[in-house]
Amino acid sequence: LIQIRSGHIPINAYLKRFKKRDNDYCDNCLTNTNRILPETVNHYILDCPTYNTERDELKRKLGRANAVDLERLFKTEKGTRELLNFLDATKRLKQALG
Ligand SMILES: [Zn+2]
Repeated sequence: LIQIRSGHIPINAYLKRFKKRDNDYCDNCLTNTNRILPETVNHYILDCPTYNTERDELKRKLGRANAVDLERLFKTEKGTRELLNFLDATKRLKQALG
């Protein structure tokens, strides 16, 4: 959680910054929609259509306004708890961490 709060999670924008990848594209968006979008923390948590199902669950639990606000996700106890559930449900970090 501390890692994600500071943007230090192994998604592609981070990997590129540390030269572990040549680009920061979201592989899901590139594969599914042919769009080149950087996979940032914002993209992963708030935008990437790949995780719409998991995000809908987050919205259902927190209410839409809270679920689309990174500040509230990171800085409230309930937001943090549901954010961790979201991260787990998407399996994105497990994939990145191997
Ligand atoms: Zn994406």
